[in-house]
Amino acid sequence: PVDRSSEIQDSRLKLPILAEEQAIMEAVNENPVVILAGETGSGKTTQVPQFLYEAGYARDSKIIGVTEPRRVAAISMSKRVAEEMNLSSSEVSYLIRFEGNATDRTCIKFMTDGVLLKEIQIDFLLSKYSIIILDEAHERSVYTDILIGLLSRIVPLRNKRSNPLKLVIMSATLRLEDFTENPRLFKTTPPVIRVESRQFPVTVHFNKRTAADYVAEAFTKACKIHTQLPEGGILIFLTGQQEVNALVRKLRRAFSFKDRKNKNRKNKRDISRNDTENMESETEDKVETGEDEMELDMQKAIQNARKAKRKHKGDVTLPYINLDNYSVIPGDDTEVDLLEEDDLGDIESDEDEDGLNLRGLAACQPMWVLPLYSLLPTNKQALVFEPPPEGSRLCVVATNVAETSLTIPNVKYVVDCGRVKTRMYDKMTGVSAFTVTWCSKAAANQRAGRAGRMGPGHCYRLYSSAMFNDQFEEFAAPEIQRKPVDDLLLQMKAMNIDKVVNFPFPSAPDLLQIKCAERRLVLLGALKEPKSKEDWTSRVTPLGYAISAFPVAPRFGKMLALSHQHGLLPYTLCMVAALSVQEVLLEVPMHGGQEETENPKQTRAHWIQTRRKWAGVGNSLFLGDPMVLIRAVGAAEFASRRGQLLQFCTDNGLRHKAVTEIRKLRLQLTNEVNLNVPDIDLCVDPNMPPPTDVQSKLLRQILLSGLPDQVAHKVDEAEIKENEDKVKWKHAYRCAEMEEPVFMHSASVLRKKSPEWVVYQEVFETNKLYMRGITAIEPEWLPIYAPALCNLS
Ligand code: ADP
Ligand code: MG
Repeated sequence: PVDRSSEIQDSRLKLPILAEEQAIMEAVNENPVVILAGETGSGKTTQVPQFLYEAGYARDSKIIGVTEPRRVAAISMSKRVAEEMNLSSSEVSYLIRFEGNATDRTCIKFMTDGVLLKEIQIDFLLSKYSIIILDEAHERSVYTDILIGLLSRIVPLRNKRSNPLKLVIMSATLRLEDFTENPRLFKTTPPVIRVESRQFPVTVHFNKRTAADYVAEAFTKACKIHTQLPEGGILIFLTGQQEVNALVRKLRRAFSFKDRKNKNRKNKRDISRNDTENMESETEDKVETGEDEMELDMQKAIQNARKAKRKHKGDVTLPYINLDNYSVIPGDDTEVDLLEEDDLGDIESDEDEDGLNLRGLAACQPMWVLPLYSLLPTNKQALVFEPPPEGSRLCVVATNVAETSLTIPNVKYVVDCGRVKTRMYDKMTGVSAFTVTWCSKAAANQRAGRAGRMGPGHCYRLYSSAMFNDQFEEFAAPEIQRKPVDDLLLQMKAMNIDKVVNFPFPSAPDLLQIKCAERRLVLLGALKEPKSKEDWTSRVTPLGYAISAFPVAPRFGKMLALSHQHGLLPYTLCMVAALSVQEVLLEVPMHGGQEETENPKQTRAHWIQTRRKWAGVGNSLFLGDPMVLIRAVGAAEFASRRGQLLQFCTDNGLRHKAVTEIRKLRLQLTNEVNLNVPDIDLCVDPNMPPPTDVQSKLLRQILLSGLPDQVAHKVDEAEIKENEDKVKWKHAYRCAEMEEPVFMHSASVLRKKSPEWVVYQEVFETNKLYMRGITAIEPEWLPIYAPALCNLS
């Protein structure tokens, strides 16, 4: 029996799903797989686990498992359900990558779908669980899709052993056909239960013309709603955290609370991405290249490297990383990275107010403006559930987390920019770029639907109906068809799913994607070479198993697996943790402009100086950008033990939130390694000395071994044609498989050195292709650590 407070009980009774409890429980009891579709906010996530608990699914120490594609949902929903049921967090718990509060007494466990996938690797039949709920299946995250495929096989197996496992797939009312009309997935079509929720009509207003500056347009629209329309909450959809924060500030200023203090306005800094582009403006024009010559040059370079290797055969002065010497450390879990990677923290930027007469507006009713995005701390997110202060109007400025994951009460007006930010990958090269594109019609309609929960509502679309009709796709492509599948492929192969092409995906990734991922994994040494182009059954190598045990991307897994040599593990751990988090170092502000006053010259000089100091000299400097990160993380740990982390970050141009995240990752990775490898005894040492010169050299080898396909060679000055502008070719490199040249990013500490051979963490595209995260390597290492690259030519 569950002992709920009367207040909770009252709010539960208002949820439409409560009326369906009996129907849901009957369907679950009688069918192995049930699909539950209901509007966002109808109570699926918070209530269904409770129904199952009360029906005895957590008896006999069995667990009710709930998977979420987003970490924020796993944490906040476990908290909410524990609170509603009056149970502790050791009974209703969560587990996300590197973090959780699950215990032996846990009976309802919320986890990210990556966590469950890892558990399947350890216990294929998931014997601890009586039932699995796959939540937010409409989001179609890669791991949810794989889980559905795997569970479609696990459920009948458990049934055969008369120890049944149930599966509930929960989704917003979007495109269920991929799950239901897919005989490869489920032989008998699972029943679909629809939770009808009260939905009031929403009047959709299109703009006559599509606004290009949708943030400004959203501001104007919100002002008009607030000053001219009856009360009711406003929900504004933008694409990213930066936009959200900017609009929140603007609205707060326009409709301020009189007693609100202008605190936290000191730390103003405009570190928009444009700065990077500005810095590169000297070479902004796209470079025209003779591609054949480039190809030739790469081959020549590799030949030289081979010669160099022969010459260096006798070089035994330094130890080398032994590629056959790797540790097998069972990992725990991985998870989808759904973070918005443009997270730049709560940094203030100050733009001019436009259009409206703000003085007039300030006389209005105050507006209670709240941001909402995935990376916002849970307690701040929870504010949207609270009623706004007396006499004010609630206005939430959100990314698409508010589309389906979290429900905001009492919204009457929705303002929709119609766009969504996604990371797009080039299928062949893996080059990624964040792009803002039109969202799907389905997503736009979901957004509009948020306005009709308390009564009739209005949705203002900041685009024209022609745009909507002609440019918006019906549905967004599932993630599995959009991003590289390296990690997925290795994980699946490590689970002995050989023929990934035959796997019952709800929608299969395309064959080219799988082939490219396979090739990269072969280069990495994680998979054996397939016998032919048509061979889809390449096996995991012993190194591949070691790699797959680490809860990080395969490249990083390899670096960790090799790092127990020469005492490198603490450094690699640091490096991998730092490289897993985006935008750790703040961009050094440009000269001129208003930042001048905010960031005096000394600050800029100091940041640059600190980074140079961290980069060091010799092998340390050649280790490049990862070295700066290792040192930054080390120094941050030291500062934080003395309670000075925030100050330290501000002084040295580090993003505080990123550093906090890295510290967490580092600690958790360290704990995991310790748990599984008894004599290794690692700790997070606040006094970790920098790596020695030899260690730095070895770390460069480790990096190359993890990035064997991300090698670039400097464009030789001699081959730049007479009539060409040499400046254009400054910092230009070429990579084995990319036709266009790539440029060393201005933020790299190696930019001055411009070494001949480098490896990079990623190439991204803005006005041209840039490499980020650069390390210099020695050509004679190529045949050892990137042998396949040499075989290419
Ligand atoms: P669904 O999963 O169907 O979208 P949920 O179960 O997430 O619905 O939400 C049901 C209701 O519970 C929503 O109206 C939401 O506003 C409310 N709710 C969810 N989490 C909280 C919370 N932490 N505090 C207060 N109300 C919440
Ligand atoms: Mg939900």
